[in-house]
Amino acid sequence: MGDRWVVVGAGTMGLGIAYVAAGAGHDVDLVEVDPARGEAAAVRLGELWDRAVGRGRITVEQAGANRSRVTLRGSLTEVGASPDVVVEAVPERVDLKRSVLRDAENLNPALLASNTSSISIAQLAEGLTRPERFLGLHFFNPVWAMTLLEVVVGPGTAPESTDAAIALAARLGKDPVVVRDLPGFATSRLGVTLGLEAIRMVADKVAEPADIDKAMMLGYRHPVGPLELTDLVGLDVRLDIARTLAAAYGERFAPPPLLVEMVAAGHLGKKSGQGFYRWENGVKA
Ligand code: NAD
Repeated sequence: MGDRWVVVGAGTMGLGIAYVAAGAGHDVDLVEVDPARGEAAAVRLGELWDRAVGRGRITVEQAGANRSRVTLRGSLTEVGASPDVVVEAVPERVDLKRSVLRDAENLNPALLASNTSSISIAQLAEGLTRPERFLGLHFFNPVWAMTLLEVVVGPGTAPESTDAAIALAARLGKDPVVVRDLPGFATSRLGVTLGLEAIRMVADKVAEPADIDKAMMLGYRHPVGPLELTDLVGLDVRLDIARTLAAAYGERFAPPPLLVEMVAAGHLGKKSGQGFYRWENGVKA
């Protein structure tokens, strides 16, 4: 018997978290305010299950069972009280996340989590009445393929909540690291540094994006280059994270003008079809 999960935001990360949680036997309410994004998430989830069946990873029956465990909702008000886990995966903005977390806390979840990439858990906990149940659960993209789960322990997080997060990771087939609550945690602080510097190198015309990526893959054994990774994450998401880290650590995380310009032009990476690369039907052209 699975737990009851609520995932808020059905974008890149929310749908991935819902997919993995359903695959582990949990019932998931996937909450999305934008009907078009909700519809797109339902289609994408269907494709993911079909692909898993096509590759022989799960049976048609298992895919059907997983599918039936995910329910799309337009608002948290449609979700039943006292879920086991709530994970918010809305855009990386403090005010938005705080308001979503406060609404989610009204459901009285046993564990309340943010998938933030960079914002401190202490900052997000402001306004919560039960900070002991709150922590960061930082999943990686694509959620079904990446085994790392960063468990971010805030100053108010109870040890029982951290233990519950580690147990939850095992059930999802994830490998957790427990990190202290400093902006950017153990991953984004390093990963975004590399991504931002690669963007500055494109602006400086050091080399073509594909060659900068190739250099890091062949020279440093990175499985994917920093610019392609920026396309996969979403340039808008990276920009929000850079702004958060710049506020915490100063100029070294200031977003490069090229990143700001590309986001303003709607070049968001894979999800919009154009970033440092061109993408057609989700595949690099
Ligand atoms: P996204 O823009 O793809 O998705 C966010 C979704 O949240 C959108 O569909 C939006 O309509 C929805 N939303 C906004 N307000 C809402 C509300 N009040 N209620 C319900 N839904 C709402 O963003 P994403 O890439 O999935 O990122 C989400 C979070 O995950 C961010 O905090 C980001 O930093 C973090 N994250 C992203 C990645 C990545 O690779 N993209 C990796 C790890 C963590």
